[in-house]
Amino acid sequence: MQCDVLVIGTGLSGLIAAATAADYNKKVIIISEGRGNLYAASGFIDFLGYYPRETRVPLKETRSAIQELITREPEHPYVIAGEDIIQKAFYYFTRLMKKIGYPYFGKWDQNRFLPTAIGAIAPTAMVPYTARPDLKDYSKILVVGFREQGDFYPHLVAENLQEQRQVLNSDFQVKAKWVELGINATKEINSFDVALMMEKREIRDRIVAQLEKEVRGDTLLIVPAVLGIERWHEVLTSFEERLNCAIMEIPTLPPSVTGFRLAENLLAYIQKKNVELYWNSKITGIDIRPGECRAIAATAVNGREINFRALNYILATGGVLGGGFKVGLEEIEERVFKIPVQGELGVHNEDFFENQPFAFAGIKVTSNLQPKDKQGRVLYRNLFIAGRNLYGYDPFIEKSGNGVALVTGFLAGALAARGS
Ligand SMILES: Cc1cc2nc3c(=O)[nH]c(=O)nc-3n(C[C@H](O)[C@H](O)[C@H](O)COP(=O)(O)OP(=O)(O)OC[C@H]3O[C@@H](n4cnc5c(N)ncnc54)[C@H](O)[C@@H]3O)c2cc1C
Repeated sequence: MQCDVLVIGTGLSGLIAAATAADYNKKVIIISEGRGNLYAASGFIDFLGYYPRETRVPLKETRSAIQELITREPEHPYVIAGEDIIQKAFYYFTRLMKKIGYPYFGKWDQNRFLPTAIGAIAPTAMVPYTARPDLKDYSKILVVGFREQGDFYPHLVAENLQEQRQVLNSDFQVKAKWVELGINATKEINSFDVALMMEKREIRDRIVAQLEKEVRGDTLLIVPAVLGIERWHEVLTSFEERLNCAIMEIPTLPPSVTGFRLAENLLAYIQKKNVELYWNSKITGIDIRPGECRAIAATAVNGREINFRALNYILATGGVLGGGFKVGLEEIEERVFKIPVQGELGVHNEDFFENQPFAFAGIKVTSNLQPKDKQGRVLYRNLFIAGRNLYGYDPFIEKSGNGVALVTGFLAGALAARGS
C-alpha cells in the first residue's frame, strides 16, 4: 500500500492530522489498534484551563498565559507550535466542524465556563452546539436527570452549581428534577442508551409532558449529554421549540455521547475525503534507514499482513493512556519506533492528582514535531509526533488535553502533507 501520509492512531490528534493532510489533497491512510480516547471523554476542546498550574485559578483569557509559557517552558507543545499555528488550528477546526454539520463554539484565547458531570464549574475553550448556552445569561436553571439512567444525579449537579455561582459572578437560582423515560428497563442504562431513545418521538412526548409546567422562556434546562446520536439536531430543536426554553448538554461519565459524536463526525469526514482506515491493526515491523522511515508492516482485520509505504508518517498513538507507550518498572517505552520517552518517571507529590513530573514525560521534538534523541538529534526526518505522545505538558492539571491534540494534530498533518 502506497500513500503520501500514513497516520498511526485514531484519537483526536490522528483524526485531525488525517483530515488536514487530506484537505491538502494528499493520499492518506490511517492504521490504528483501537478507537481513541474521545469515546470516553467529553469531546470539549480544553485549550488551557489553569496556568501557572499551581495556582488552580481558572483562566478567563489564555493569550497572556501563552506568553508566560513561552518564557518559562520552551518545550511545551503550545510553545513549539507557536501562537500563529494555534490560531490556524482553531480556525481550521471551527470551519471543519461547521462544514461537517456538527458545529463548535468558542475561542482558543477565551475560556467558557460549564458545569461538569457533578456540577463543578470548569473552564473549556470550545464546545459543541448542544452545549453553547452561556450560564451567565440565565437567572433560572433547571437540572433534569432521567430516573432510569444510572450515572447522572441532577440534585448533586444543582447543589454544586448553586454553590459555585460566585465563580461566574452570577446569582442564578438552580433547581433539580427527575423525569421518567417511561421505559421498562431490565438493566441500568447509560447515556448512550438514553441518547438513542431520545431519537424516538414518543419518548420525547413523555419528557415534554413532565417538564412543560416547570420551565419558562427565561429558564435554562441542563441535561446530561443524551440528546440523540446522529439526529441530535432534531432532538435538541424539538425540545427547545416545544418547551420554549434554551437547553444545554453537559458531559457524562463514559460512554460519552459528545465525544462519540465528535469522533464519528470526523471519521465520516475523512472517509468522504478517501482516507483509508485500517482498524484493529497491529504493527508487526518497521523498515528504518538512517534518519528516515521507509515502510511499516501491520496486520489488517483478517490477520493478513500489509506493507504500508509512505512519504511521511505521523505517530499519534496517545502516550501511556492511548496505548502508544509501554510502562515498565524503570522506564517508559514508545512501542512502534522505540523512540526514547524523556522526563522524570517517578511519583513525587504525595497527592497523586497534584502536579506529578511523570505527567510531562513524552517524546521530545524539534519545532517541526520530528522526534529527537537524548542528545537532541533528529531521529527520523519524515516522522511527526502528535497529541499525548509529546513531552512537556500535563493535560489534566492544565486542562489542555484536546487542545494539544488539536493543535499538534493540525501541525503534523500540514507538515506531513507539505513535505510529501
Ligand atoms: C477519561 C478521560 C477524559 C478526558 N476528558 C477530557 C476532556 O474533557 N477535555 C480534554 O480536552 N481532554 C480530555 N482528556 C484528555 C484527552 O482526551 C487526551 O489528551 C487526547 O484526547 C489525546 O488524544 P490523542 O490523539 O493524543 O490520543 P488517543 O485519543 O489516546 O488516541 C491514541 C490512538 O492510538 C492508537 N494506538 C495506540 N498505540 C498504537 C499502536 N502501537 N499501533 C496502532 N495504533 C495505536 C489507539 O488505539 C488510539 O486510536 C481526557 C482523558 C481521559 C483519559
